[in-house]
Amino acid sequence: MGMNNVPEIFGSLVFSDEVMHERLPNQTYRALKEATANNQPLDPDIAQQVASAMKTWAVEKGATHYTHWFQPMTGVTAEKHDSFITPVGDGKIIMDFSGKELIRSEPDASSFPSGGIRSTFEARGYTAWDPTSPAFIKDDTLCIPSIFCSYGGQVLDKKTPLLRSIQAMDKQAMRIVNIFGNPTGAKHCHSSVGGEQEYFLIDRDLFNEREDLVTTGRTLFGAKPPKGQEMEDHYFGTIKPAVKAFMADLDVELWKLGVYAKTEHSEVAPSQHEMAPIYTETNVGTDQNQLTMEIMKSVAKKHNLACLIHEKPFAGINGSGKHNNWSITTDTGINLFKPGKDPYNNLQFLVMLAAVVKGVDEYQDLLRACVASPGNDHRLGADEAPPAIVSIYLGDDLLALETAIEAGEQMEAIKASEMKSGVKFIPKFKKDNTDRNRTSPFAFTGNKFEFRMVGSSASLAGPNTMLNTILAEELEGFADILEGVPEEELEERVRALVRKTFKEHSRIIFNGNNYSDEWVVEAERRGLENLRTCADAFPAYIREKNLALVEKHKIYTREELTSRYEISMDTYCKTLHIEALTMADMVKKSIYPSVLAYMTTVADSIRVKEAISTNVPHESESELLTSLAALSDSLMKKCKALEAALSSAEKSEDIKVEAIYYRDNVFPAMQEMRAVADELETITAKDYWPFPTYTDLIYSVN
Ligand code: ADP
Ligand code: MG
Repeated sequence: MGMNNVPEIFGSLVFSDEVMHERLPNQTYRALKEATANNQPLDPDIAQQVASAMKTWAVEKGATHYTHWFQPMTGVTAEKHDSFITPVGDGKIIMDFSGKELIRSEPDASSFPSGGIRSTFEARGYTAWDPTSPAFIKDDTLCIPSIFCSYGGQVLDKKTPLLRSIQAMDKQAMRIVNIFGNPTGAKHCHSSVGGEQEYFLIDRDLFNEREDLVTTGRTLFGAKPPKGQEMEDHYFGTIKPAVKAFMADLDVELWKLGVYAKTEHSEVAPSQHEMAPIYTETNVGTDQNQLTMEIMKSVAKKHNLACLIHEKPFAGINGSGKHNNWSITTDTGINLFKPGKDPYNNLQFLVMLAAVVKGVDEYQDLLRACVASPGNDHRLGADEAPPAIVSIYLGDDLLALETAIEAGEQMEAIKASEMKSGVKFIPKFKKDNTDRNRTSPFAFTGNKFEFRMVGSSASLAGPNTMLNTILAEELEGFADILEGVPEEELEERVRALVRKTFKEHSRIIFNGNNYSDEWVVEAERRGLENLRTCADAFPAYIREKNLALVEKHKIYTREELTSRYEISMDTYCKTLHIEALTMADMVKKSIYPSVLAYMTTVADSIRVKEAISTNVPHESESELLTSLAALSDSLMKKCKALEAALSSAEKSEDIKVEAIYYRDNVFPAMQEMRAVADELETITAKDYWPFPTYTDLIYSVN
């Protein structure tokens, strides 16, 4: 422990701002900072000096290789390692790293998904250094956060659109800040994200016994365990020693990489946990979350555990999300989503709030699409997860404010009420302005919005790109109206604008229970969309208004967003295809043979009893045998039906046709087969069941 008890390891593997300051000539450091702060391209000479300092630092830390670390559209990060070794003649080598190598690299792009943007023979793709996210060392390799694009300049990754969305939002948010006098002299706004990461931890040996978990990340079979999460005893429960050891190790590894892992606790489902970092700028936060997922898996492995980051590893118990806490802050530290004590008279806040309300309503389909994934299809709308319907929770105070404004009434300042515990020696404290509504997909939580629909395995890039873009669009519209309005008229104009906006978009506000069936009906009445699956949600990407939005703000070209749509739909079909094949494999090679063996044992018992005497009863065996025979027969029929559905799946010119086919034909066949297998599990002797059950898995770590 060093000063202030901050662990010395903190950030030890990050080429941080501090390290740069220390190691770069003052002028170079300032030039770098200025270029990134003002969105200016970097001078090659400066890049050379940064590269050199970076290399020296990395080699001191034991690194031998470097890589441009990027996020292609596969959803995981990619890296191609090169060593620092450079020949200098005479068979001699030096450890070298040039500015050119830092700035760009050229991996073969042909095997990354591009959704028809780049035909595979045009293999050229470039990665380019993103100086706004710090480089770090992982596995003795200097990782340089990078963007990834094709030879023709089309975006092939998730980070470039995110960076563009931050710029677009910055431009429009600054117009608003300036309209309200910009008292702190802010030059830029950035968005921040705190991504709460949920995950499951199970025993690694048991994990390896499940073909479904190994190949698809989720259980494709499994009868409901006798005890699930109904006792609600796991949430914030005592952390078990093996889990604690994992979390402690995880913290250390994350701290080294500069990820401020802050809270670790147990979640609602047995064996489910969460890690929340301290929020940071979205670009860095997104990179850090990718790292977090990777480190979680590798630390788990060291502890002989498997970390499941899938949205729904187990049917019937909670799935995992990644709550995306999002806010907008000026470079002078003003959080634009902070209502303050008197939000009614905080005009700038009212404009920001109205923009979010309008944006989420107008682009609810786009927000739904950007969190859609095959895994999230199982989670949204099931077992304590927000539904597939987008709505906003404002909390009581802001709802009262919104209602008053809509009605054209005034509001008094909100007084934070004191919490009285009824116990004299407990110190008094002020209550939060908002209670929690854990059921809302998009909740205002004090000074940020928490977008809870994001799936646990998703990159944070997608949702934040869309949030920033939507906000940019609405702020632009508002700024166009308010700019140039004389100061004495500003308040009146703002109030009229905010009131009109609330009136037109209040349908998106819902403070009630999002888990209820009534809400589904009510939402439909309000005309809100309920896009249940990937096949329903992804087409939102290519609706005209959405293509126009991303094009206008230069986030994606139409072609680029269309390619996102194609890749996403294709991934949906492929995922279901792989899951279905895995299920058929498990049925034919494991479940059916095991049940056959068990039936033989039961039949033997009947035969033995009959051989001894017809007086020995064997009714229960006979009944059991009949059930086993009927179910296993049905299982094989369902398996054939599933295989038939798979073989009739045809590649279609229109990816939507294919996706709908998987949704309507393959998925139901999987569910039907699973139901039979799960029933068989409940009547087959444990010794015969070919793989660990839900009870074995979810209570495997102690
Ligand atoms: P809750 O318990 O209501 O979920 P926390 O204070 O624990 O809220 O924060 C949850 C996450 O939100 C953390 O990752 C935290 O760093 C992040 N967060 C807090 N304030 C902000 C903010 N202004 N902008 C973005 N994220 C934030
Ligand atoms: Mg939260």
